[in-house]
Amino acid sequence: MKVAGIEVSPDHFIGGERVASSSTFTDYSPIDEEALGEIARGGQREADLAVTAATEAFPAWAALGASGRAVYLHRLADLIDANVERLAPVECVDMAMLLRSLKARLINRGARNYRSYADLAVAYEERVWDSNGTHNRVLRMPSGPAVVITPWNAPFMLSTWKTAPALAAGSTMILKPAEWSPLSCSLLADLVDEAGFPPGVFNIVQGIGEEIGAALVSNPAVSRISFTGSPETARHIGVAAAKNIVPFTGELGGKGPLLVFEDCDLEAAARKAAGQFDDAGQVCLAGTRILVEESVVEPFMELFHRFADEHVLGDPRSDDTTVTPLIHRDHFERVAGFVERARANGDEIVRGGQPAERGGLFYEPTLVIPRSNDSEIVQREVFGPVLTVQTFSEEDEGVALANSTPYGLSGILYTGSSERAERVGRAIRAGTVWVNTFLVRDLTAPFGGIGISGIGREGGDFALDFYSDLKTLQIAEGTTE
Ligand code: NAD
Repeated sequence: MKVAGIEVSPDHFIGGERVASSSTFTDYSPIDEEALGEIARGGQREADLAVTAATEAFPAWAALGASGRAVYLHRLADLIDANVERLAPVECVDMAMLLRSLKARLINRGARNYRSYADLAVAYEERVWDSNGTHNRVLRMPSGPAVVITPWNAPFMLSTWKTAPALAAGSTMILKPAEWSPLSCSLLADLVDEAGFPPGVFNIVQGIGEEIGAALVSNPAVSRISFTGSPETARHIGVAAAKNIVPFTGELGGKGPLLVFEDCDLEAAARKAAGQFDDAGQVCLAGTRILVEESVVEPFMELFHRFADEHVLGDPRSDDTTVTPLIHRDHFERVAGFVERARANGDEIVRGGQPAERGGLFYEPTLVIPRSNDSEIVQREVFGPVLTVQTFSEEDEGVALANSTPYGLSGILYTGSSERAERVGRAIRAGTVWVNTFLVRDLTAPFGGIGISGIGREGGDFALDFYSDLKTLQIAEGTTE
């Protein structure tokens, strides 16, 4: 099939070959809800084929060692950089991610993921020490075939973020991208092929989560499961992982607080708060609960509305657009349902609150003052352009509000005080807290969530450890009885 003028295979990539399925599902573009094509709908058969291919490829891939594997990962990274002009337009049409973000950041970030994990795996220094008459070392042993399951937002970047450490650590793998945005990962398969990976090392399968996804995570030959998506799906995957006693990481949803203290640069804070509508709010790390110190709420809100007014709803291929359509009609209905229930609950809609006039899958950037902190709109992830705003009068109250949901993925705080930055930064219950900034990432830092936002950590050595069986090797100094 052709998308944005680029040839994209609708089939799986298993054992180094394209494999079709007897049934298909339709992939739609969020831009106009037009069908882009029919995609292979894998099930038990394709899951088994992919796990078998990954299992057979594992011993040789593991035996290559980190340096041997790095050659392939670097080649793949170079090919990604060389193919930005193919990958970006396809993902833009498939997911409605802004074309300029894809070209400037997100696709290259995929290349950076493969490069940095390849180098990090090579640089691993075994911990070495002597004790009790033995010489001790901690070895990282490749663990076996891994399954990686990814969500529909930023599908290329997130898939590379998770598959890079798996491959670098010596796992062979099966990637299943989400069914609402499967195409950029199909192009990734072309690049894996071009990079000359041995057949079966990196398999990419397509299909519905409850079908091929469930079949993959239940397969007893799988040694690791890495998932990014919703807490609801993570519960199912966790059960499957528990049955086979397989380590599992989940990077899950968020409901991040964005705390604004009176001593901060108010304009910067308001600009960032209004910026949470970017990508139509389909960002797990977004600070969707704005918490403002009462003494500055008026000037803050004035600035917030000024910056929010600057948003432009439009085609993700246009340079002016800042707010894109939502991914799918079902998701649009889900977002609209949250706002309707908020209205019925007596929460005050102070901005937006309805489908946008331009129609399609556009929803107006929406701001809600909740009736209470227990309102559903405060407590559950919407994953759309919907923010709430609440006030607090004391720092402790702000922190308590920040920590009052079951989520704990990220937090943002704006303050001019370094003491407060340290104090509140520590007190916020989240895997990542940004102070006076947002979305700055160091790939070696641990990344993950607390509470229902996740289990385990990815990033840097944390991810390489996850895909490895850590082994303590103790060799006696001399002969022991
Ligand atoms: P989702 O949980 O519906 O689906 C994620 C993936 O799981 C898809 O590939 C889907 O096909 C698959 N899946 C569904 N049911 C399955 C099953 N029973 N067994 C195996 N696989 C199954 O999530 P989504 O709607 O695609 O993504 C949005 C969610 O992802 C939001 O909650 C968002 O916050 C979260 N997210 C988190 C991060 C993070 O880094 N923490 C990043 C991006 C998105």
